[in-house]
Amino acid sequence: MPQIEAVLGDITREETDAIVNAANSSLRGGGGVDGAIHRAAGPELARAGAMLGGCKTGDAKATPAFRLDPPVKHVIHTVGPVWRGGGDGEPELLASCYRRCLEVADEVGARSVSFPAISTGIYGYPAADAARIAVGTLTSTPTGVERIRLVAFDEATRDLLAAELARDVGSGPAGNPDGFAER
Ligand code: ADP
Repeated sequence: MPQIEAVLGDITREETDAIVNAANSSLRGGGGVDGAIHRAAGPELARAGAMLGGCKTGDAKATPAFRLDPPVKHVIHTVGPVWRGGGDGEPELLASCYRRCLEVADEVGARSVSFPAISTGIYGYPAADAARIAVGTLTSTPTGVERIRLVAFDEATRDLLAAELARDVGSGPAGNPDGFAER
């Protein structure tokens, strides 16, 4: 299982082998983290994205990272679900995003990957539920990725992710007893 940490920051400043983009299905760029990544990577990113023929919700596709600095090798674009109340397959689709990103990371040979909090901005996914799905999926998907950074853009999201990570450590078979509250 990869080592996973939750950090506060701007994902365009990450130094991992790959960063994940919360893209839209056109892969030509948009708002939020998508816009920030496209601005940092340069116009080649939208051209490379356009050549991939779009991406379905829950799927992921990789492009080079072009002008991102610090240099990152790959951008893994995934399309999160728009929150419509939770009864429209949103949890399964969000889990699929995290799983497919790890599969694509394995395909391109990325050993370290930074993720934003997919779907929790413009797409409206409740942050606590999204954090639980992010950590639950990343810890249960077999992968060659060794290091994962969950890059939150605000403290509340970082705290939710850190709490999920602490819970996950505490609940595993080789769980860290310090992860539990005193009883
Ligand atoms: P979505 O459309 O999937 O909801 P958004 O880009 O609107 O995507 O938001 C996803 C998450 O990314 C939100 O938590 C937002 O605060 C965060 N975010 C926005 N810009 C950045 C950035 N530069 N680095 C990391 N996270 C970011």
